[in-house]
Amino acid sequence: MAAPTYSRRQLLEMSACADCRLCMDVCPAAGASGDGRLAGAYRLAELRRMVRRRQGLLAWLLGPKEPSAEEWTAYGDTVFKCTLCAQCQEVCPVGIGLKDLWCSVRQNLVQSGIYPKKIDMIRDNLAESHNVFGEDNGERADWVDDLADPPDHGYQKDQAKVVYFTGCVAAFFPLAQKVPLALAEILESLDVDFTLLGEEEWCCGFPLLGAGLEPEAARVIEHNLAAVKAKGAEQVIFACPSCYQMWREHYPPGLRIAHVTEFLVEQLAAKPGTIKDVPLRVTYHDPCDLGRGARVFDAPRALIRAIPGVELVEMERNRENCRCCGGGGNLEMIAPELSSAITRDKIEDALHTGAQAIVTSCQQCLRTMTTYVRRNNVPMDVLDVSQLLARALKKGAGNP
Ligand code: SF4
Ligand code: SF4
Repeated sequence: MAAPTYSRRQLLEMSACADCRLCMDVCPAAGASGDGRLAGAYRLAELRRMVRRRQGLLAWLLGPKEPSAEEWTAYGDTVFKCTLCAQCQEVCPVGIGLKDLWCSVRQNLVQSGIYPKKIDMIRDNLAESHNVFGEDNGERADWVDDLADPPDHGYQKDQAKVVYFTGCVAAFFPLAQKVPLALAEILESLDVDFTLLGEEEWCCGFPLLGAGLEPEAARVIEHNLAAVKAKGAEQVIFACPSCYQMWREHYPPGLRIAHVTEFLVEQLAAKPGTIKDVPLRVTYHDPCDLGRGARVFDAPRALIRAIPGVELVEMERNRENCRCCGGGGNLEMIAPELSSAITRDKIEDALHTGAQAIVTSCQQCLRTMTTYVRRNNVPMDVLDVSQLLARALKKGAGNP
């Protein structure tokens, strides 16, 4: 096992657990699978037990005893069956930074060669193609051709006030491309001077954190920063909460950044009276990285409430307690059945509200939940807030 990468604070946190098991009650992975070993309480206790055997008091008295490879492999299996939704951290009364801890454990396991081999695909795709899917990065802005009236510049200008950082999921997944298509219409109708980075946009690096490969993110951070600066932009906006989180927490400070919901609330305040009626009963799903991660709860709700005719009904678990959609932590790649079972529970939450549509503000949540409702013939629409807003700003538009 490689030397651990835990901070002093994390080593202290391992001993701080009060064993209240609140994290167990809310864990979507443990809930959907019925396997309590996936919850924070168990994983923390196991980690403490194994770390103490090699560097605790007993190790000091009797000599360190490294847990066996089989023990680490069994433990690693629980660590990678996690969406990194941070719901455990949210409820922990002791304030243990569980999400960061799960990322550090993943990093330690990857450095030791104990990880699902699909993680190699993330590393290889990012290194070779600069996107998480291994697609031709030159096609990153091809979705623009699907706009009703794409401009000659294809939104790849030399200079612009705003850079819209698309993210891999929206750039390459046809289902998720509805987000940038709607967003381009909205930004155009609000006269926002924006550009894409095109093939100069590389994956933000977020999937590397979940894959335990954080040290490899430095190269993409450096590249993306240079690409944005070359556009002379004042601000970077993100529809993907994970890209936003990556830029907020891991890129050097200095650039103005915002999630599109925050940006659009400001823009609409400056241009009141342009929104048309959309009769629809909706519920709102808080994406983990936007809600619990960035504490952006109100901006998407303000956009939804700004549309006349839309009725917003909340799920029982909402805002900081919102259940994960199942799409985080690379879980879809590592354990697709578990990911889908979590989505099932999420959709159940939404169905209980009686809403006609579940609205979110994340292209990955949109993709995960749409795939589930289509496969299972669930009578519910799934929309990104940008699609709903595009509908209201340009009624009858084809994209949403
Ligand atoms: S981050 Fe989410 S899925 Fe992972 S252990 Fe915590 S609550 Fe469970
Ligand atoms: S919520 Fe915190 S204190 Fe309670 S069992 Fe989980 S990790 Fe331990």
